[in-house]
Amino acid sequence: MQVEVVGEEIKCLVEKLNFAQKVDRSLGLIREAYQEHGDRLVVANSLGKDSVAVWHLAKCVSPDIRGFIVTTRFKPKETVEFMKQEVERYPERRVFRNDEPIPDRLYETDPDKCCDILKVKPTRQAMEEMNVACWVTGLRCTEGRTRADYQEIEERDKGLIKLNPILIWEEREVWQYLALNGVRVNPLYTKGYRSLGCEPCTKISVGGDERSGRWIGTSKCGGECGIHTRPLKLDYQI
Ligand code: SF4
Repeated sequence: MQVEVVGEEIKCLVEKLNFAQKVDRSLGLIREAYQEHGDRLVVANSLGKDSVAVWHLAKCVSPDIRGFIVTTRFKPKETVEFMKQEVERYPERRVFRNDEPIPDRLYETDPDKCCDILKVKPTRQAMEEMNVACWVTGLRCTEGRTRADYQEIEERDKGLIKLNPILIWEEREVWQYLALNGVRVNPLYTKGYRSLGCEPCTKISVGGDERSGRWIGTSKCGGECGIHTRPLKLDYQI
């Protein structure tokens, strides 16, 4: 059984464990959660590298594990095409999208509101419609300043577990895993992106912080869309 670790211990594991140990740890976390939650465990997918790594790990645990993708009207065409191919290949992954009208250029005037409507709301819908007890994410603590303080197993919403099985992986180790396992990735990475999101809010960036190309020019720069920070119970209203 995996021992739950928090805070500084998580940071130590990033340094202390080698690649193979991290893969084993991630598989163990998913396996244990799947044994506990069965079909009520689902894997979230943002169509980025971390998500496809987690999906591959989950499929190693059980081919029956389900997933969901939250997409928006502003996803780049490459991401949309990649999503279509992925869903064709794994139809057990459902797609959620909110098409309700929003003000023009809301992503500039109020990106938090835009993300709330287009990303957080459909994530809540996924939780409800798929009867989720445990959702699995590709969140990593070395991605950027906003991701340093998460835990591998969390319960931010009462009754809804969030599992972050690759929390202690570094960027290089994600690419190492994907290369070694021949996992297909979003073609936008060939252009130099390190973190992928909606087109108006994602730029190619260099430097230490992987997420620094997100929401450049707004107060949200390098930040979060809200699915990891906002309540995900459907009865919560924006
Ligand atoms: S990433 Fe940008 S366009 Fe996409 S939902 Fe958030 S603010 Fe809107």
